[in-house]
Amino acid sequence: DKQNWDEFCALLGEIETISDRTQVAKLSQDYYHFSPILQPLLQDKTGDIVVLPRSESEVLKVAKLCVDSEIPLTVRGAGTGNYGQCVPLKGGVILDMSKMNNIVWMKPGLACVEPGVKLAALDKKTREIGWEMRMFPSTYRTATIGGFIGGGSGGIGSITYGQLRDNGNLHAVRVVTLEAEPRIIELRGDAVQNINHAYGTNGIITQLEIPLAPVYPWTELIVTFKEFMNAAKFGQALSQSDGIIKKLVSICAAPIPSYFIPFRDIIPSGEQAALLMVAETSLEPLQELIKNFQGKICYQKSTQETVKGTTIIEFTWNHTTLHARSIDPSLTYLQTLFPADPELKLIQECYDYFGDEVIQHLEFLRTGGNLHPAGLQIVRFTNEARLNEIIQYHEDRGAIIFNPHTYILEDGGMKKVDLQQLNFKQKYDPLGLLNPGKMRGWVDNG
Ligand code: FAD
Repeated sequence: DKQNWDEFCALLGEIETISDRTQVAKLSQDYYHFSPILQPLLQDKTGDIVVLPRSESEVLKVAKLCVDSEIPLTVRGAGTGNYGQCVPLKGGVILDMSKMNNIVWMKPGLACVEPGVKLAALDKKTREIGWEMRMFPSTYRTATIGGFIGGGSGGIGSITYGQLRDNGNLHAVRVVTLEAEPRIIELRGDAVQNINHAYGTNGIITQLEIPLAPVYPWTELIVTFKEFMNAAKFGQALSQSDGIIKKLVSICAAPIPSYFIPFRDIIPSGEQAALLMVAETSLEPLQELIKNFQGKICYQKSTQETVKGTTIIEFTWNHTTLHARSIDPSLTYLQTLFPADPELKLIQECYDYFGDEVIQHLEFLRTGGNLHPAGLQIVRFTNEARLNEIIQYHEDRGAIIFNPHTYILEDGGMKKVDLQQLNFKQKYDPLGLLNPGKMRGWVDNG
């Protein structure tokens, strides 16, 4: 290790650092262990030092020192990512953004925030002025807004507002570059896509403008079904009901509900469950829809009650996988965008074909203006070759797999190099110091 870290810390002056090996190792990890493929590849990766800036000017100072000594720099929010997005492959500095957690301003429909603010904290604040987050991941209590933009895709709310990449879901960002003289640039409009979901490989986000939605009085419900396809078609019908105000349509095939310990006595054994968030005023039309698909409400939590205790949110999206794995750690998962199809033919086919090997878990969402069921299927893992066969089976039939078993940005996404993001990196991180090894386009470039 050529770098003298004591000297580096001295140059940082007042800026907070952590160099204790155990703590640094902990702050180098995320939730990639959901993947048996990533587990052995990333478990030993660690940074050399954690730096916790409190302001943009402190970020600039860290960036300059890293550029001058050619030190790799990997940005971290709360480290709840699922594919080692914030795990440093080449050591160096972990830039932990959690202390930059101010809300800069709020106005109806828009909030300007620092990247380290936690999503639940932000949602609580904006509610004070009658607005809420349009969407958040099921990790909203711990995850940061910077990490959600850097490594997330969507979540609770995406059924109405689309995904983070959809036009209008991110208004502006301020970014610190890693040029010879690091500086702050502002990206607005389409230019935000340079950095949106780029795993922190081409700039450090120091401020964001996030659009908001009007607050509704949300009710949480669990509806059960004897037949899986009834549950799935109910999910589709509810998602298509534009007049029913909703934030979450999550469908779990049996035996997934049996993994939800707090709901074990509530959800009848062997049944399928729909976990829903619907506006209180939409309950009447919802009830009719439930009846049409032979569903039964087994759990309901009013708006007043949702502020405390167990929330169904933490049983949906990738929390479903978390609960499944806490019962059986050999389980893993896939991320699938099923084609827009009111008949759900491919879902029916996969359900029949895979049986218990790929257990259906669907999150309905909008993307590009279309309604899609997205699968976060629970997979009984045997080996990598079989996992790839399962992926291939889906792709051959027109589903898009967002592979959660790779830490490479493009391989987890659309499988092609994003030239816009690559060009941005060439310009603003010419030494390739930011989160090295994650962007295939750059790796291929040498
Ligand atoms: P981190 O994991 O710390 O970082 C994520 C990426 O963003 C990294 O590449 C990092 O380098 C980069 N980054 C962080 N801050 C910045 C910055 N300031 N500038 C530039 N780059 C930055 N994700 C979803 O989208 N939807 C879900 O519903 C969802 N559910 C989940 C459920 C579970 C149980 C788990 C474990 C994960 C889930 N995730 C989900 C993934 C993850 O929790 C979210 O994407 C979360 O928003 C990430 O935030 P974070 O602060 O933990 O980011």
